[in-house]
Amino acid sequence: MLCQAKDADSLGERDGYKIVECEACQLRQVANLPDDAALDRYYANWHMNDKYARQARKKVWRWLGKLIRARLRLGTGRFLDVGCNAGFACEAARHLGFAATGIEVSSDTISAARRIFPNCSFAQQSVQDHAKSGALYDLVLCSEVIEHLNEVHGFLDALGQLVRPGGLLILTTPDGDAYPEAAGFVAWKDANPPQHLVWFRRKHLLEQMGQRGFTLAWQQKTRKPSLRLVFRKSGQTKAANQ
Ligand SMILES: [Zn+2]
Repeated sequence: MLCQAKDADSLGERDGYKIVECEACQLRQVANLPDDAALDRYYANWHMNDKYARQARKKVWRWLGKLIRARLRLGTGRFLDVGCNAGFACEAARHLGFAATGIEVSSDTISAARRIFPNCSFAQQSVQDHAKSGALYDLVLCSEVIEHLNEVHGFLDALGQLVRPGGLLILTTPDGDAYPEAAGFVAWKDANPPQHLVWFRRKHLLEQMGQRGFTLAWQQKTRKPSLRLVFRKSGQTKAANQ
């Protein structure tokens, strides 16, 4: 767990999962986290359908809009999407001039991504294994992934290692500040374990990425209850494509 939350207030229970809030830092998380095997079983039943693939053009278009500012700041270079789904953001990054790579743990999803977007490169790999390769990227995206994890620290370490000094990391997750009241939180549509297991507030991500050498560059505004933070990694600016 991100926070050991020894003094945690119970917010209630949903589908057998206890949701608690740390008294010290107000992080909300599932106390009885499912283990890896339980999560594997849960996500094994998820299959991408044809309708999803048909929406590809629209999804790529949306990602173009979300990535354009990073493109203007960085120029082109190497792009990585961690938890890339069917590769929509990768394809958008490729259109913006990046060499685009996506990683994803589901083999079904990776097969679909390769089929739909043959000009991007995809690997069925965890972020930890990918970081071990020593690869560095100018721009790393991790969208709507961290709230699904039963272990966040090692994941964020690996994510941080993959960004070159001076590079950017776009991190998005449901906004834990969007539902401030403790009462009724467990009924919120985004409070849905075992899909979502932790609800970060802005301050938590600033602190976590700060410890890993990142500062907030900007925040993408959205009408949705979603946090979209863009971090810059400290250190000298040196393009990753060499
Ligand atoms: Zn705490």
